[in-house]
Amino acid sequence: MDKLIKSISESGSFRAFVLDSTETVKIAQEKHHTLSSSTVALGRTLIANQILAANQKGDSKVTVKVIGDSSFGHIISVSDTKGHVKGYIQNTGVDIKKTATGEVLVGPFMGNGHFVTIIDYGTGNPYTSTTPLISGEIGEDLAYYLTESEQTPSAVGLNVLLDEKDQVKVAGGFMLQVLPGASDNEIARYEKRIQEMPSISSLLDSENHIDALLAAIYGDEPYKKLAEEPLSFSCDCSRQRFESALITLPKQDLIDMKTEDHGAEITCQFCGTKYYFNENDLETLINNKV
Ligand SMILES: [Zn+2]
Repeated sequence: MDKLIKSISESGSFRAFVLDSTETVKIAQEKHHTLSSSTVALGRTLIANQILAANQKGDSKVTVKVIGDSSFGHIISVSDTKGHVKGYIQNTGVDIKKTATGEVLVGPFMGNGHFVTIIDYGTGNPYTSTTPLISGEIGEDLAYYLTESEQTPSAVGLNVLLDEKDQVKVAGGFMLQVLPGASDNEIARYEKRIQEMPSISSLLDSENHIDALLAAIYGDEPYKKLAEEPLSFSCDCSRQRFESALITLPKQDLIDMKTEDHGAEITCQFCGTKYYFNENDLETLINNKV
C-alpha cells in the first residue's frame, strides 16, 4: 500500500514528507493507457497533489492543474485529505526518450504555462493560486509554488521510474521545508545535503526508497516520524453524480438523446469508468424535469 510519512527534525526547524506512490501511478497508467512521457508527467502531478493535500485537514480538496502549451495539454488532478487522488492528462500518447540513455523526457515537452492550485475548504470559497512553470518537470514547479506562493522555502524531488516495457516500476518523492526559527548553520547543513543528494531516480531505485529518502534528507541529524498516512488512486465518481449532471441539461437535449441517440454514454475523465443511460433512464429524467 502506498504511503506518505511526515517527519520533523529533532530541532523542530525542518520538516519532510516522503512518499511511496507506486500503486497510485500504476493504477493511473492502467486506467488511462498512457505512454511513457505521459505516464511520468501524470504520475508526477499526482505525487505533487498528494504532497499538497497532506498539508490540509478535514473535508478540504486540493486540485492541481499543470497547464503547458506544448505536447501534454492539461494535466488535472484532485485529492482529498485522506490520500485519495484522481487525475488525467489530455494527451495520453506522448512517448519521447533520449536516444542515448532511454531517459523519458517531460519538461521540454511541457512548454510554457502555469502551475495552478485550488484549495477548496468546503466552505464555498476556494483559494486559487497560480505560479509560472519553471521547468515543466513538475517537482521544481511545485517547489517554486511552495516557496513563492506559500512563502515556505521548500525543496522537492519526485519522479516515476518505468521498466523496460514502459510500465510503472516505482513512483514517489519528497518535500523538505524550512520552518521558522531554523539557524543559519542548520540551513547551510541541509542545503549542502540536498545539493549533494544522489539523484531522485537513484534514490527511488533503492531497495527501500522511503528509508533512502529519509537518510538522504536528514543524514546523521536526529528526526522523528510524526505520522504515516495511506495513499491511493481513487475516483469518487458515481452513476448518481452523472445523473445529477444530466438532469441540469435542457429538456430538449434529453429528448434528443432519447429519440435520436437512443441513450447516452458518459465517461468519467478522471478514471475512465463508463456510465450508460438507456432510453428508459432518459425518459425518467425527462419526466422528472419540470
Ligand atoms: Zn471516475
